[in-house]
Amino acid sequence: DNHTEGIYQGFIQQTQAHPEKPLFHLPDGRRLSYAQVLHTSRRIASKLIGDGVVPGDRVAAQVEKSPEVIALYLATLQVGGVYLPLNTAYTGSEMDYFMSDAAPRVLVCDPSQAAAHVKRGRDGIVVETLGASGEGTLLAAELEHTEIAQLRPTDPGAILYTSGTTGRSKGAVLTTGNLAANCASLLTSWEYTSEDVLIHALPIFHIHGLFVAVNMTLVAGASMIWLPRFDPDAVLDAMPEATVLMGVPTFYTRLLGTERLSVEACAGIRLFVSGSAPLLASDHEAFEARTGHAILERYGMTETGMNTSNPYRGGPRRPGTVGHPLPGVEVRIVDRESQATLPQGEVGIIEVRGANVFAGYWNMPEKTAEEFREDGFFITGDLGVIDDQGYLSIVGRDKDLVISGGFNIYPKEVEGLIDVHPGVFESAVIGVPHPDLGEGLVAVVVPAGGDAPDETRILQALAGELARFKQPRAVRFVDALPRNVMGKVQKAELRKQYTDLFSS
Ligand code: ATP
Ligand code: MG
Repeated sequence: DNHTEGIYQGFIQQTQAHPEKPLFHLPDGRRLSYAQVLHTSRRIASKLIGDGVVPGDRVAAQVEKSPEVIALYLATLQVGGVYLPLNTAYTGSEMDYFMSDAAPRVLVCDPSQAAAHVKRGRDGIVVETLGASGEGTLLAAELEHTEIAQLRPTDPGAILYTSGTTGRSKGAVLTTGNLAANCASLLTSWEYTSEDVLIHALPIFHIHGLFVAVNMTLVAGASMIWLPRFDPDAVLDAMPEATVLMGVPTFYTRLLGTERLSVEACAGIRLFVSGSAPLLASDHEAFEARTGHAILERYGMTETGMNTSNPYRGGPRRPGTVGHPLPGVEVRIVDRESQATLPQGEVGIIEVRGANVFAGYWNMPEKTAEEFREDGFFITGDLGVIDDQGYLSIVGRDKDLVISGGFNIYPKEVEGLIDVHPGVFESAVIGVPHPDLGEGLVAVVVPAGGDAPDETRILQALAGELARFKQPRAVRFVDALPRNVMGKVQKAELRKQYTDLFSS
């Protein structure tokens, strides 16, 4: 199969091949067929054209998850617009930043938000509404315009803002070719076909839920059991009818927390996928013991879509690793200082190249230039190591690396040891300025509740397991770690908070 033609074209082909097939299985028992979704998307496209959207215009969407949002995404592609999904958790001032940065032609929001968006009075932005039960101005249109834009693979198809874990979110411009290439390599690697029924419980404003899960389904001609959010019981209820679950690590942690998870409950599923954040090796092993399924972990980012995946077939899925490069993706590890390519077994910065890699950051030509090497490799900002079997492991983020007394410390190693300490819920290890060491290591610890663990006991336990230079110089207890709307720990915030710890 040649799937590289474009997501929109793939969806059209599938609709022609089986118009009545359900694309969506909804929680209330309704089914929405490919033909119905195409019909809705063409009406929305007509409205967008009426709003003045021309190829290259951004169409922003901050809306609750519904099947109509996928029709909006398809409509945007049909008219040659650039789809710009936004997290529903963003506040007014965050939205102000995205609106002035991206300057969309149309902003689609929930009916309840329309007044606020209109009042903020952004120049030239048309506000349309789309409700989670399919109401709103966007759906009011009749079919007047039916043009289909002819896009090239180098034309932008979407702008996706990064999660903002390491700083302000950046708009990654993904071309229609990037989306198609990424989708094609995943379809091949995971043998995803029209026979598949996916449990879709992810948000659809992030790369994972939209450009992995939905794109694959549209192009393969598969079906989705469409859940508004992750709920372990709803997922378990859906399993007998499904073949694949794509999730983030917390899905698996929470499934493991139910009594219902068993070999029988998962019997119909052929593939469990995890990504977007590290899956604990202990969860991987516990899940396999309970269900007989080894979760397939993969690694991606907003700017690149998916880079690597553990094998679907033909090799073990290794806990704690993110597998091998996907077809068409090159991955190398380079030295932080010299930028020389490193051999297997050595930790360095992960760089990737391939048709999946984005065109650049929106409105940030200098930042874009900084993040690409001359030979076209993108500098991911993640640290990793490739083992002798070619499996990549993510060691952490380059920005979170601590250099103390001239030694490199990977916080993840220290965090892993603190987290297993009795009475600890979770931890974040950071480096802050230190008069002698350059950076001194601080462990920020969230107690599990009950009796807070004692600093000396934690440090004593670590002393038995870690070289002296890796041992924290201070431990601080907090109620919660600062997280962004995607739930990722913001270490830059913590570093700011503790920046004077060793200097006074
Ligand atoms: P920002 O770039 O704005 O700081 P972000 O990098 O968190 O935010 P995303 O693009 O959503 O934004 O996240 C991609 C990052 O998530 C990767 O660079 C990597 O650090 C992390 N990640 C993704 N998958 C995995 C995985 N399987 N294991 C470990 N880390 C992962
Ligand atoms: Mg990033």
